[in-house]
Amino acid sequence: MAETIFSKILRGEIPCHEVYQDEHVLAFLDIGPLSKGHVLVIPKEEVATLAELSDEASAAIGRVLPRLCRAVMKVSGTDQYNVLQNNGPRAHQAVFHVHFHIIPKPLEGGGLGIDWPAGQLDAEEAPALAEAIRAAANGS
Ligand code: AMP
Repeated sequence: MAETIFSKILRGEIPCHEVYQDEHVLAFLDIGPLSKGHVLVIPKEEVATLAELSDEASAAIGRVLPRLCRAVMKVSGTDQYNVLQNNGPRAHQAVFHVHFHIIPKPLEGGGLGIDWPAGQLDAEEAPALAEAIRAAANGS
């Protein structure tokens, strides 16, 4: 994976406003927040997308994400928020080191805006589609 700005943050070569750290995970304030308290949670493992992340690093992130959400909500004073995780440039990923955004959604506005052009699940295609994903998830 190509070096990213998050590698430099992990090595302490550029500063961040750290909010949490353990053996596998670092969390810090986003430099371009969508709302007050916008936090990034990153694995120390350096991979670009979530699908590449090891089970160990994924488990470490999963263990702390809810706790970090609670902390961000407590301090930002709202009980609503988005957890966003972008993979690939078409999906709005700009820094190619896996990261989770925790973005408070304040009552007074701000936070993540979402365009959600929902379609309609095709009832004929759905069984085969589900089976294909089920088989892929099970490793066949
Ligand atoms: P994404 O579009 O999901 O790749 O988001 C990348 C995020 O990283 C953006 O929200 C940026 O504001 C944030 N970011 C980039 N550089 C830094 C930095 N040095 N410190 C904190 N956040 C950063």
